[in-house]
Amino acid sequence: MNKIQLEKGLLLIVSAPSGAGKTTICKEILKILPHLRFSVSCTTRPPREGEQNGKDYHFISEDEFRNRIAKGEFIEWAENYGYLYGTLKKEIKKFEDKTLDILLDIDPLGAKNLKKNYPDGVFVFILPPSIAILKERLKGRGSEKKDMIKIRLKKAIEEINENKWYDYVIFNDNITAAASVMKAIYIAEKSKRERLKNKINNLFNMPEVK
Ligand code: ADP
Ligand code: 5GP
Repeated sequence: MNKIQLEKGLLLIVSAPSGAGKTTICKEILKILPHLRFSVSCTTRPPREGEQNGKDYHFISEDEFRNRIAKGEFIEWAENYGYLYGTLKKEIKKFEDKTLDILLDIDPLGAKNLKKNYPDGVFVFILPPSIAILKERLKGRGSEKKDMIKIRLKKAIEEINENKWYDYVIFNDNITAAASVMKAIYIAEKSKRERLKNKINNLFNMPEVK
């Protein structure tokens, strides 16, 4: 009898202009999808109130970040608003080895780089209902000073343009509805025949019924 083949995990990559609500949506779906794990990125940005080291990000110094770049530890990295952000190869491998699905919250540049290594990843872009609401959400989060909000808003307009090469777009009017759409995308992608080939083949490797 052949060995049972396991399916590869799914890579779900989420991007959005700052303040559109991707962190909030990611947290919601991680609560309800038991096989999905969050890829914790490294960043040189200081933690926001309530953010935990090792859970929301690995908060590291710029020296350490640059050292890790030199050692080739990142699968992708990018600079945003004067800080460095990157995905560790070992973070992805840890979950791949367990055939778990992985959720990545990364910017469009990082997502584009990741697509080169993971063309079968699922790329989701989150949009706010309007720019005025995006501004309100950025202000309302209360985590950035006025000048940083301006910088993030300016970049948001450029980033929104990147939605065109993503597989899916979710308008985040309402958290519950947006999280349901994300869950629907995940379930539909997990049910694609292409992703279930091993499971289908395993049907023929079952022990004979005597
Ligand atoms: P991002 O991770 O995309 O930068 P956050 O998830 O931090 O954005 O959301 C920015 C702010 O907007 C937070 O204060 C969050 O609570 C709020 N927010 C997110 N989604 C919604 C929504 N659908 N309605 C109202 N407020 C929201
Ligand atoms: P924030 O400071 O709001 O948490 O994140 C700023 C931006 O950095 C967001 O667009 C977020 O998706 C992105 N980001 C977070 N982690 C990574 C990462 O590992 N790689 C890249 N390229 N971008 C990241």
